[in-house]
Amino acid sequence: MFEKVLIANRGEIALRIHRACQELGIATVAVHSTADAEAMHVRLADESVCIGPPAARDSYLNAAAILSAATITGADAIHPGYGFLSENAEFAAMVEEHGLAFIGPSPEHIRMMGDKVIAKWTARKLGIPCVPGSEGAITNPEMARKVAGEIGYPVLIKAAAGGGGRGMKVARSESELLEALRMAKAEAGAAFGNDQVYLEKYLSHPRHIEIQVIADSFGNAVHLGERDCSLQRKHQKVLEESPSAALNDKQRKEIGEIVRAAITKLGYRNAGTIEFLYEDGKFYFIEMNTRLQVEHPVTEMVTGLDLVREQIKIAAGGTLPFRQEHVRFHGHAIECRINAEDPETFRPSPGRITAYHAPGGLGVRVDSALYAGYAVPPHYDSMIAKLVVHGTSRNECLMRLRRALDEYVIGGIDTTLPLHRRLVREPAFIDGNYDIHWLEKFAGLKV
Ligand code: ADP
Repeated sequence: MFEKVLIANRGEIALRIHRACQELGIATVAVHSTADAEAMHVRLADESVCIGPPAARDSYLNAAAILSAATITGADAIHPGYGFLSENAEFAAMVEEHGLAFIGPSPEHIRMMGDKVIAKWTARKLGIPCVPGSEGAITNPEMARKVAGEIGYPVLIKAAAGGGGRGMKVARSESELLEALRMAKAEAGAAFGNDQVYLEKYLSHPRHIEIQVIADSFGNAVHLGERDCSLQRKHQKVLEESPSAALNDKQRKEIGEIVRAAITKLGYRNAGTIEFLYEDGKFYFIEMNTRLQVEHPVTEMVTGLDLVREQIKIAAGGTLPFRQEHVRFHGHAIECRINAEDPETFRPSPGRITAYHAPGGLGVRVDSALYAGYAVPPHYDSMIAKLVVHGTSRNECLMRLRRALDEYVIGGIDTTLPLHRRLVREPAFIDGNYDIHWLEKFAGLKV
């Protein structure tokens, strides 16, 4: 087992990883920008190293500075968390070249799934159902017109290097196609330095349902059920739950088995998520995330497993200590992402926290790096806390979530807590009757 792990991240996920390390008897090294000197992940870690100025490209994305920090402190592994360098194949390869373990999949699998055109082609070959669309990248307008004509409008142009919902454009008819293509390419080029795009059928009322997997280096792979992440704003997840109200046990088992077989065939190792759109009883692959997801606690609450602990043990050469038949799903879990934003305009609201009280009690988990007196810096993602609640049934979970949201106090800045409080009292949400477009239409929500 590792003796010391460097955590190449910040905020709640850095704390989450620190906690798993501590419980395994592993020392931790925090890295931080100058803006994060007072951050909780720095305070709790056994050691910390400042890796640069506030801008992420100079600190949390600075691979050389992070590797130097690992070398100086004598760490034997690096956990990248999510975002930042977590899906950067070159970084994963550099970590391994320096004789350290990268707590995640192989650089080859990260690279393969990071190109969504290759990812889709690979998924299809592995027997995973995909959204109908272009076979590969769209290389000219004529090709776009031909494919769109074959699959039918509306169509969606997506960036091959996509992420965070950027570089996606809908074309509802042929007259909109060329402009959508031009805009998607320009946006993708600017955001990712790669303007390759592909085309797929635009599904009108899907749910976003994803399957969590974990595998060791010895061919043992299991799926840990689904998360329904349909509640989104601008293609960004706002609330996630498991199980999905849209699936029955038979469908759950079927898609889980398809994914498990594919992952085994791929020889994938560590944690990963296969994302699907689900419409009219059918699953359509959209992408694979080769890292720990923000919403992983939802799965931990229903399975009782610690995903980060398993990630670390697998990276250290361990065997998965359970098989598919040992995985049990208990009750229901919901996660609310709480952002430092105005709950109506979604304008970021960084600043000093004047009062802080986190909810507690049975079945309530708060993953956050906040504390009273802490100043939320303006330089990073606005998510400041995840409230995750478990109940024996969806109804019990909702009752508990309502009271936990009402207990939560974050003073001094605007947060999206009021949005969540409203959401959990909304009949359509209570009925589990929603698709990926529902939240944006939700009464009074400005988008
Ligand atoms: P990204 O990597 O940018 O997050 P994804 O492919 O994961 O892109 O898609 C993000 C979200 O965009 C999905 O959860 C869904 O809301 C929407 N989306 C993606 N593909 C389609 C599609 N073919 N039809 C309708 N909506 C889609």
